[in-house]
Amino acid sequence: MITVDEALAEILSHVRPLGAERVPVLDALGRVLAEEIVSDIDIPPFDNSAMDGYAVRAADVSSASPGSPVRLVVTGSVAAGYVSSVRLEPGRAIRIMTGAPLPDGADAVVPFEDTGDMDRPKEVRLEEPAAEIEVRRAVQARDHTRPAGEDIRRGEVAMDAGRVIRPQEIGVLASRGRETVLVHRRPRVAILATGEELLEIHEPLAPGKIRNSNEYTNAALVTRTGGIALRLGIARDTKADLTAKLRQGLEQGADLFLTSGGVSVGDYDVVKDVLGTEGEMQFWQVNMKPGKPLAFGLLPGGVPLIGLPGNPVSAMVSFEQFARPAILKMLGHRDLSKPTVRAIVDEPLTNSGRRGFIRVVVIRRADGYHARTTGEQGSGVLTSMAKANGLAVVPEGVLHVEAGSELAVQMLDWPEGMNP
Ligand code: AMP
Ligand code: MG
Repeated sequence: MITVDEALAEILSHVRPLGAERVPVLDALGRVLAEEIVSDIDIPPFDNSAMDGYAVRAADVSSASPGSPVRLVVTGSVAAGYVSSVRLEPGRAIRIMTGAPLPDGADAVVPFEDTGDMDRPKEVRLEEPAAEIEVRRAVQARDHTRPAGEDIRRGEVAMDAGRVIRPQEIGVLASRGRETVLVHRRPRVAILATGEELLEIHEPLAPGKIRNSNEYTNAALVTRTGGIALRLGIARDTKADLTAKLRQGLEQGADLFLTSGGVSVGDYDVVKDVLGTEGEMQFWQVNMKPGKPLAFGLLPGGVPLIGLPGNPVSAMVSFEQFARPAILKMLGHRDLSKPTVRAIVDEPLTNSGRRGFIRVVVIRRADGYHARTTGEQGSGVLTSMAKANGLAVVPEGVLHVEAGSELAVQMLDWPEGMNP
């Protein structure tokens, strides 16, 4: 039986980042950049003031101090968005607001706070701009100014391909006038539940039947990971029905298939058979618990199929280990790992000897992270997953974990107050 790491490596070797698509800049949030962004302008485009104050020649005020201020005649005013029509002559000052271009002749700005201007109430200042100001502090050339190209120079690479787009990257793109951007396409992930016992969620329960919850969990996981969920519904446990549903998914352009159930050793577990006849099985069974009966294969066109186990917890744990990284790779992400912390387990654990994934609640204490199990660990007990915020990982070969030992815990979420 192959290990979790081998299984993941095998799956990822059959998965490539998808091609690029052009999207409106705001739709790129959370996506991965598929082009290099080279700036075609200086940002900021011109030297400008970093403060509200007076544009001056630094040389004129080099001797200014609170005890012996320098007086300058005010010859104009410039607001952000405008260009001063006056040139700054020696011995003069031009009133200037943050973001306004530095007038010709000026090389520094004295903030209002360092002039006599602040002594007058704002209403008075607005109605009657000072004809003369007192500079109470010396400035050096370039003080309180922002030179053109300070943020980025024309011709420089602002962002490399592969960058994950956050709000600040959106801002960088917007400042360059980019209305659209190339990002990796989102994978279309076909989701197919298998099982004679499954009912649609709107149907009333009937003897021997249960509701198809996996389709919903999987669709939500796919969406949260950044993929597009194509829900194919329920396939009966017959080769004919399963084959028809898989072909339907291929026709809809699926980039990846996630099935659930039908991969065990039961009489009606037909997923492996159909994978073998429709495509090619790559492996079956992974040395983990829950999630052992995972199947992986390729459908025509090399479309990967991850056959998740049917038990709801096993399906989810397997999704996190295998489907999530595959989807992230298709989206162009380079970091495919799950956020993981080291936590002290506050109770003894037993393990099968396979790699164990134990549902835990992680909390943060003064001495670090602590983990406790969420109770009954049966692979059908989905509420144990709903209560958990992490999966404690017990290494292969370990049968007992003593209370107080440290384990890696994959975080399912980062609840409030949990941040490192
Ligand atoms: P199987 O691997 O098909 O034998 O399924 C294992 C267990 O998971 C059985 O108890 C199934 O009833 C259950 N199961 C399979 N598919 C689903 C599903 N879509 N939603 C909820 N439970 C399921
Ligand atoms: Mg089944």
